[in-house]
Amino acid sequence: MTTPAELNWIELSRTALRNNIKSLAKLAAKSQLAVCVKSNAYGHGLAEMVQLLSEMKEVACLTCHSVEEAATCRIEGWDRQIILLGPTANYEIPAVLEYDLEPVVFTLESLRALGKAAAKVETPVRTHLKLETGTNRQGITEQELPKYAEVYKKFAYLRRPYGASTHFANIEDTTSHEYAQLQLDRFNGMIRKMTSLGIKPKIRHTACSAAHILFGKTHFELVRPGISVYGYWPSKETYLSYRLSGGKNDIFRPILSWRTRLTQLKKVPADSFIGYGCTYRTTSATRLGILPIGYFDGYARSLSNLAYVLVDGRRASVRGRVCMNLTMVDVTDIKGVKLGDPVTLLGESGSESLTADRLAGWAGTIHYEILARLSPMTPRVVTD
Ligand SMILES: *Cc1c(COP(=O)(O)O)cnc(C)c1O
Repeated sequence: MTTPAELNWIELSRTALRNNIKSLAKLAAKSQLAVCVKSNAYGHGLAEMVQLLSEMKEVACLTCHSVEEAATCRIEGWDRQIILLGPTANYEIPAVLEYDLEPVVFTLESLRALGKAAAKVETPVRTHLKLETGTNRQGITEQELPKYAEVYKKFAYLRRPYGASTHFANIEDTTSHEYAQLQLDRFNGMIRKMTSLGIKPKIRHTACSAAHILFGKTHFELVRPGISVYGYWPSKETYLSYRLSGGKNDIFRPILSWRTRLTQLKKVPADSFIGYGCTYRTTSATRLGILPIGYFDGYARSLSNLAYVLVDGRRASVRGRVCMNLTMVDVTDIKGVKLGDPVTLLGESGSESLTADRLAGWAGTIHYEILARLSPMTPRVVTD
């Protein structure tokens, strides 16, 4: 690929995405595959990801956090199923009906509001009940189920939940999975209760990436992976558990690369301070490269004086603090660098590669946050 003219851009690999989708489809061959595209598709770019995922027949459904994201998916041409994971405000209900979205419900108020709105326009709405099994985030308890059953029966355009779901609290952060098993047992118990109340759901879904990869019994009718679609393991623990159970290691490939350019090259003498706060001081004559990206673009300020970038397959360390829109790197020992040369912030360059896990380690966070905070304003290009 010839590099774009931009000074800052994100590349998305169709081949890597196709590989990840195939791996996930194979791991849960009997379930429908729902891809999580919340948070601007984990920072990858919602519009571009919707277009790429539309090409892939294995993907039956998208899951979004907000109505706004889901509406964007429709506008970008997604005509398959969409499940809303987050809350729906009352003013958003007309959009839920117009765009044929399937909200996850966890309050009686929103269930009634949906029932009324659906009756008014005589359009059935598919809802999913979110069951509380121990994450203590969104979700309803077993004791509350009879009240929900009453509301379902009262509104003809609801009738019964289309789906029931839950979310695991401690599945990626550990290699021992007793808590996940406890949650799964509670989920199964609540499904039995729903059945006895006459509100048996048509589909059940519980599996994030870690559950999808490790536990067949969490798959049910639909799986909802996020991070693995984008080519990352949910955690080291998930990777270890997978390998210990005999799995192959090369089933996912990161699809995103983030690149910028050297927009200034300069020599600074020994003992010079670099950047805000004078946090870095050169010990010898140094050649600095200036990059036109900073924490505004999603290059975390906590990477200051810790990270390196890749210039023509070689490492160039970040010197001084990452600024809002600029970052300085040391290119002293990199022969042949020229103004305008591409710089890799995330992704492969020569035989080197920088992953979101690596940046997360430096920045004191997780790869999910590194990816989700990539600026939506950075141009995205699809490669291969
Ligand atoms: C984000 C999310 C997922 C996807 O999780 P990953 O760990 O990225 O696979 C699945 N279900 C719910 C409810 C989520 O919020």
